[in-house]
Amino acid sequence: MQKMTPQNLRTPGPTPIPDDIVEAMTNPMINHRGPEFLALINKTTEQLKQVFMTKNDLYILTASGTGALEASVVNTLSPGDRVLAATAGSFGDRFCDLAEAYGADLTRMEFEWGRPIDPDAIRKALQGDPSYKAVMVTHNETSTGVTHPVEEIAKIVKGEFGKLLLVDAVSSLGCLPLPVDAWDCDLVGTASQKGFMIPPGLAFISISEAGWEAQQTAKMPRFYFDLASAKRTLARGQTPFTPNVALLYGLSLALDKMLEEGLENVYGRHASIGQFTRDSVLDLGLELLVADQSYASNSVTAVKMPASVDGKKFMSMMRTDQNVVLAGGQGKLSDDIFRIGHLGHVVKDDINEVIVALKKVLPEVGFKS
Ligand SMILES: *Cc1c(COP(=O)(O)O)cnc(C)c1O
Repeated sequence: MQKMTPQNLRTPGPTPIPDDIVEAMTNPMINHRGPEFLALINKTTEQLKQVFMTKNDLYILTASGTGALEASVVNTLSPGDRVLAATAGSFGDRFCDLAEAYGADLTRMEFEWGRPIDPDAIRKALQGDPSYKAVMVTHNETSTGVTHPVEEIAKIVKGEFGKLLLVDAVSSLGCLPLPVDAWDCDLVGTASQKGFMIPPGLAFISISEAGWEAQQTAKMPRFYFDLASAKRTLARGQTPFTPNVALLYGLSLALDKMLEEGLENVYGRHASIGQFTRDSVLDLGLELLVADQSYASNSVTAVKMPASVDGKKFMSMMRTDQNVVLAGGQGKLSDDIFRIGHLGHVVKDDINEVIVALKKVLPEVGFKS
């Protein structure tokens, strides 16, 4: 295959990959049942625990992020279990669909897209029905650019009601603070192509003591994502099935880089780039989807597509003329917004390029500020 020219890839995953990580992934293949792999999986698992800020068990799965979310559901629930799921976007909806596909008796609490999940509504729902076994939430709703108040939600779900808490942290972990133990989140899933500066193909999941307790009686069918087999095999430095070894090479270096930068600095970089993105977009006369900026995501920004603009032409000109790849809207927002990803390997200059390109292209597609 011919080598492609790098784009300013501003999808909220996959993200561009730093050159040294690309290089690391070209290391020679090894036996995944051998001593080199044992060292690699043990090192990366321990470093991931630092990034998750957890002492809980943690597993690296060869899957996309949805694999980790599926693992969180099938390892803790039985068909017919009552589950409260809060959703305010496409990924929240998908998490619901996933649990329903395995037979969970799910109550969907729907919140407006662009607004945060209301922790008080979760409290009321749990007060109203003690039969719930688990609560499911999305930490950062990638389809709307909203970060939900998981810390507050966890205080209610765990602190007041002692229910299991399943968190979709696919576009937040490694970008936005999510201290898994301090917030007491039972199952937390994320993916390699979002905050971790490596290509798609690995998923990471942490499971608490309470999660393991639920696992003992959970009857949903599971095989590839059975965490008990992941635990047994990790004890001897292996994975149940053939892992994506090349991505693990990349992950190992990515984690070195993240921990060397320091997690606080990684979060700070995302926060300042997120703010810079929102300020610049507003300066151009565009509007954000997020209703209240205090819930704006620092890993992805959703911008309203101006009524005067032909969205398809705009996205295509940004890509072909400016080499900037934006993401469109999803689900019911597909024609109403565009999204700028700013997660993982991202610096302010990457966003500056996007803003310069927007300034050129918007007037050409009918935008008047
Ligand atoms: C990207 C994403 C997913 C899906 O991840 P895949 O890797 O495509 O399976 C789920 N939830 C959120 C919040 C995401 O951003």
